[in-house]
Amino acid sequence: MIELKNICKSYNSRGLYQTALKNINLKLSSKGIVSIVGKSGSGKTTLLNIIGSLDKSDFGDLIVDNKNIREFTDDELDSYRNKYIGFVFQNYNLLDYMSALDNIKLKMIVSTEDENRVNYSSEEALKKVGLYRFKDKLPCNLSGGEKQRVAIARAIVNDSKIILCDEPTGALDQKTGIEILNILKEISKERLIVMVTHNEELAKKYSDRIITMKDGEIVSDTNNKVEEEIDNFKINKTKLDIRTIFKIAVDNLNLKRKRNILLALTASIGIIGISIILSISNGFNDSLGDYEKYISSKIPIVISSYKIEKSNKYNNSKTINIIKDNPVYLNKGFISYFNDINKSYYSTVKYNYLIKLNLIGYTNNYFEISNEYFKSMPSNNSIISDNYEIIDGRFPSKYNELLLEINSDNMFSSEIARILNVKENDGIESIIGKEIKLVFNNEMYYKIDDKYNTHDINKELYDNENNLSLKIVGIIKVKKDKIEEVNPGNNIYYMNSLIDHIVNKNKTSEIVKSQKNSNYNLLTKEFINDVEKSELLCYLGNEKCISSIMIYPKSSTSKESIIKYIKKYNNDNKISIIDESKNLYDMSIKIIDIITIVLVSFSSISLFVSSIMIGIITYISVLERRKEIGILRSMGVSKKYIRYLFLMENIILGFISGIIGIFISILLSGPINIIFNNLIEADHIFSMSFSDNLFLILLSIFLSVIGAYIPSRKASKENIVLALENN
Ligand code: ADP
Ligand code: MG
Repeated sequence: MIELKNICKSYNSRGLYQTALKNINLKLSSKGIVSIVGKSGSGKTTLLNIIGSLDKSDFGDLIVDNKNIREFTDDELDSYRNKYIGFVFQNYNLLDYMSALDNIKLKMIVSTEDENRVNYSSEEALKKVGLYRFKDKLPCNLSGGEKQRVAIARAIVNDSKIILCDEPTGALDQKTGIEILNILKEISKERLIVMVTHNEELAKKYSDRIITMKDGEIVSDTNNKVEEEIDNFKINKTKLDIRTIFKIAVDNLNLKRKRNILLALTASIGIIGISIILSISNGFNDSLGDYEKYISSKIPIVISSYKIEKSNKYNNSKTINIIKDNPVYLNKGFISYFNDINKSYYSTVKYNYLIKLNLIGYTNNYFEISNEYFKSMPSNNSIISDNYEIIDGRFPSKYNELLLEINSDNMFSSEIARILNVKENDGIESIIGKEIKLVFNNEMYYKIDDKYNTHDINKELYDNENNLSLKIVGIIKVKKDKIEEVNPGNNIYYMNSLIDHIVNKNKTSEIVKSQKNSNYNLLTKEFINDVEKSELLCYLGNEKCISSIMIYPKSSTSKESIIKYIKKYNNDNKISIIDESKNLYDMSIKIIDIITIVLVSFSSISLFVSSIMIGIITYISVLERRKEIGILRSMGVSKKYIRYLFLMENIILGFISGIIGIFISILLSGPINIIFNNLIEADHIFSMSFSDNLFLILLSIFLSVIGAYIPSRKASKENIVLALENN
């Protein structure tokens, strides 16, 4: 039983005060057809809307089965509309994008989780109005009468007890109208039907009770005897599950497919921009990383006991300095520790020795040759054969054989030419077999009193029979694409065994023997300490002292292993690592990062613009779909879920525009790679990462949702009656 007590309602629009209902008191029993008749503007619709809680009265109580609806919360009102009320409007108010059956199901889904029950009840309702065979038709393919029958089926589907019909036959021809009334009559055996109608004749024929209204008041009532029966009243929250929200959102997007695709395309422009920038920056980082890896396995780690100046000498190489107590050569303990290093870490090692090579050359004149052009060869030939090609001759195999390195332009320095006595027009083959002389200590130094002097550089010294002749046996040149040794065209390589040979001779020389017993430098007569003395003895060839070791890692990981191993030798921070190629690499990465940030910020502007645009379109869509919002709300869908519906649409839209953006940037990757290949000879500079893509899709969804947030809030707050008035 429904009871209205002192219901008053007035409207105040644009300063115009209009009373729609004046102190209505009314009781309605729970079955039968109650018709409300009266002139237009007499307040019939307003009364109906207040009973159905589409509108709120200004004053008075609405009591349904002993519960005062005026005291209900918003959630309870939603549930009341959904469970208790069914609306049948003059203009049907079906959702255009859903089939007849889905329109009916929707009202049930809002409050029922039992899918079977939803399907069964919805189909039963459709059968009751005789339209089961049209269940899959869209409303636009149904006639007016058929639409109204679907609307009636929707009204009764949730076992709703009160069916409110506002001029249900108003838009139909008489014959169809009568069909509808017959259906309503049938339904009214179990429910209360409150029907607003203009047609008093039909009202008389079909109604159990007729209420006539005038100027917001009830002026006559034919049968106001009411059974005071009370039904049980159960309220539970209405909700839409995510699947339904998704389905409605997809259906809606589909309805305006072209516009939405255009929207997604426009919104994807920013994503395309950022995706391309990130991919290119990835590509740069990758190729720099590859280069770094390549470099680290081709360039040696240099281990030295003294601080190598940041000169060009070992540019790009890993330099480890053992900040030593003093001697400029590596101590024996370290060398033996180093020799135990895992052989699989490196391809080769190269030792540099602290020893004076007394070399004499002849070109027009006899002269002493500076040691700076002479380098020891790696422990095996692979590092040379990997990186160099033999231009002429062969690899050395004996301690007195030398290798000349020329640069990539087949040139070598004029100093080398002078050392080897090569004339300008000599062919390269004339270099093979060129000789220089190595003089041992006993011939190089002679004693006067207790000081040693250096022998004059002349023919006599050059021709001494004790000298060792060193011979060029091969010429090498760096292979294409390989990294050149420092100062190509300035290097002559000797074998390690040469040093053994020299030490063997010189350790028994007069000067060494004397120097061992003196605290003065016997060449300069200066006082020297123990460290300086040991260095001097190395220099004079008393023993094989290693000034630095160059070790060529097999890979970048073995490089790390080598560094770790060496560091372990001296834990008290006496070893420092200067990793210049790494520094260069880090700096390049940093620059790329900065450029990326700048470019991404620019693209973000377009993203920002597109999210504003999405907001505007959503806003327009809210305006366009006010009626749909009204229909959903009249079925009891709560404000929250109206908001979710719009948000879901924008999540889908954002997702699609993200996917489109990434897809288009994949399409552009081909041309971009070609452009960069031509520009800087970089292969595959376009390198997309999964995490970037994921991020971009999430970003696109996020922006789209942000853009839709305010419009969707507005949608949910829409006044139901006003929303329904929109066509
Ligand atoms: P009926 O359905 O009997 O034609 P209504 O209930 O629609 O009458 O209207 C009753 C009165 O209230 C009318 O005078 C109408 O102009 C006014 N009215 C109804 N709805 C509104 C509204 N949203 N804003 C202002 N006035 C309204
Ligand atoms: Mg009306």
